[in-house]
Amino acid sequence: MARWDAILSLPVQNPPTLEISSDELVWSKVEGWHDKLDRVALIPFARVDDFVRGESNNKECPTRFHVEARRRRSPSTPLKQKVDGILEYILYWCSFGPDDHRKGGVVRPSRTTYVPKKKNAGRPNTKRGCTCRFIVKRLIAEPSVALIIYNNDKHVDKQGLPCHGPQDKKAAGTRAEFAPYISEDLRLRVLSLLYVGVSVETIMERHNESVKKQGGPCNRDDLLTHRYVRRQERAIRRSTYELDSDDSVSINMWVESHQSNVFFYEDFSDSDPFILGIQTEWQLQQMIRFGNRGLVASDSRFGTNKLKYPVHSLLVFNSDKKAIPVAWIITPKFSCLDAHRWMRALYNRVHTKDPTWKLAGFVVDDPQYDVLAIRDVFQCSVLISFWRVRHLWHKNITKRLETGMQIKISKRLGCIMDKISRSQGTMSLFDDFVEDFIDESNFMDYFKATWYPRMGAWVDALRTLPLSSQESCAAIELYHNQLKIRLLNEKDINVYQRADWLVDKLGTKVHSYFWLDECSDKDDFARYWKNEWMSGLTSWRKALKIPDTNVLMEDGCAKVEDGDEQDKAYIVSNPGSMLSICDCCWAKDGNLCEHILKVLSFCRSRGSVLPSISLLQYRQALNTILHCPPFDSLIRDHAVSLAVSVQKQLNTLLDKESIQTAVEPNEKRIVIDIHPESSRVVSAAQDQALVCERHVVDDILSWDDDGRAVCGTSNITGQGVDHGNTRNGK
Ligand SMILES: [Zn+2]
Ligand SMILES: [Zn+2]
Repeated sequence: MARWDAILSLPVQNPPTLEISSDELVWSKVEGWHDKLDRVALIPFARVDDFVRGESNNKECPTRFHVEARRRRSPSTPLKQKVDGILEYILYWCSFGPDDHRKGGVVRPSRTTYVPKKKNAGRPNTKRGCTCRFIVKRLIAEPSVALIIYNNDKHVDKQGLPCHGPQDKKAAGTRAEFAPYISEDLRLRVLSLLYVGVSVETIMERHNESVKKQGGPCNRDDLLTHRYVRRQERAIRRSTYELDSDDSVSINMWVESHQSNVFFYEDFSDSDPFILGIQTEWQLQQMIRFGNRGLVASDSRFGTNKLKYPVHSLLVFNSDKKAIPVAWIITPKFSCLDAHRWMRALYNRVHTKDPTWKLAGFVVDDPQYDVLAIRDVFQCSVLISFWRVRHLWHKNITKRLETGMQIKISKRLGCIMDKISRSQGTMSLFDDFVEDFIDESNFMDYFKATWYPRMGAWVDALRTLPLSSQESCAAIELYHNQLKIRLLNEKDINVYQRADWLVDKLGTKVHSYFWLDECSDKDDFARYWKNEWMSGLTSWRKALKIPDTNVLMEDGCAKVEDGDEQDKAYIVSNPGSMLSICDCCWAKDGNLCEHILKVLSFCRSRGSVLPSISLLQYRQALNTILHCPPFDSLIRDHAVSLAVSVQKQLNTLLDKESIQTAVEPNEKRIVIDIHPESSRVVSAAQDQALVCERHVVDDILSWDDDGRAVCGTSNITGQGVDHGNTRNGK
């Protein structure tokens, strides 16, 4: 029993990496199994797959591990009152074993039905008697933990000789030199290329070219076969989204067969509607990678008018600040903002992989969103994005009004929203607006019917939540437009009324496009690109590339010369407003184009318009922090001692200086006034606004290694500014 005490007192190791390899774990030796020392370690049971992947991707000897044996305790058997009682036992074995199909090799009696192929071209040398294996046990005493017992961690045969990998001379030039299968990355790449319509021949042609260029195969992926790609292509061609003629039965079947891509599922019940949360392994990895200390943004109403169920996407921003979908939630329109139902499941899924993962901010796009649920689950700032409303106003203004009136109405609406966001206006501004433009019925009827009833909630949200930056708006807008091209391009529009079509298309084709966007090799297939595949920079990034010299202000308008075509210029009316109007095609569809954004930053840098609302709110948040003594006693003590030490250093300097200049020393002495009762630290620079101002300027100018602004104004990088609100909201 002492052995089990020793095992159960081992720490549970949970490295914050996407894969766990045995090198990253601390192994303990425990006596007793089969009279030899086995190496054991404990990890969370939910991360067993990560360990299997980490071991398969072993650098010295890549391979794959398969389940050789598995036993589960059936729920009906009574619990054994033994300390070593197990719920589940899984034996993983290197796929180059345990049988040995090499000449003279031993095959277990139960597997003797295997008839070696005459030609070994198909699966050359798969089984080579490798003895590398480990056991995973889930204990009754600790069901959330997996005990890993490594019986044999060397890839050797019964004689103890290397039987595959670079050490095995006989394996040279065959698959056994590298690994039995291609990597997960290549598998996904092949599938994605097939899904977006690249042919088998083209994939193989490009692949063979690149292997030839590097001088022959040198890793597992170089051995990709035509046969494998063709088989995948056939499987895709023969599959159908309609698993049953009844849509709800079909969805159930899809969920059943895609368990690993489903993070939440509840069918219709008496009280709640159906809800399905989809997240693939790749999406989870992106959420961990770009969401950590970053932002997640929601695009909650895609396809409301066309699809049976709208698509609610959660997005993160990659290093180019482009939005990548990391989860899709499918549910009827009226409950799409019931975030509390699925949010915890998503958070737990991420946290299981990376316990240190923390979100800096969550951007919502609707005032009805369950903000309390977000704060409760993610413990982060909540920001609001105005992009959808701006987009729809802009689109309808250009569609429904003459150019002169477009400019007047958008100018007015831009002003109203600006005032409200700066807490200088209320709903009454909209009443005046409706009255003043009542004759423009073409637009006003739409506005009164669609927007007027909702503006109360928007005004409240804009006054209480910080506004997300234009940079994130541009990224969300680009994503939304990409999704439209990639998802809603069916000839038969009847499929839009089926949920099984929707989940299938999202999980296959749409996922593939976004996967390929992130893939560096996609340029190899450039000449097969179709519209759906095209994806450039966000308009914010494009705007950064336009030099100031291309902007000319005249007659209250701005003329922006296009970077690519020098002789082409666009006219931006209402320059510097939230609702500028540009005459380029992208803006005519209601989008924030690079010209509008360039003019906005041009005007701000010249001081002809007020600084952005994000910057204003950032300053306000800094002021709040400055005027609010820290409540944590440790931080308070630290702040006090820091202030005293700075005081001493400054006074030493000033004393030296005063000796030289013979000024009355006390004139310049720094006094730090520390009231013990309030513990408020008042610095020598009494003018806190000045300090705040300087911080803002310093922060704006400070950039980290990746070239990201480190300040809250560029809140796309995740430095949220909702400190005050978070505290008040709890
Ligand atoms: Zn092996
Ligand atoms: Zn434009």
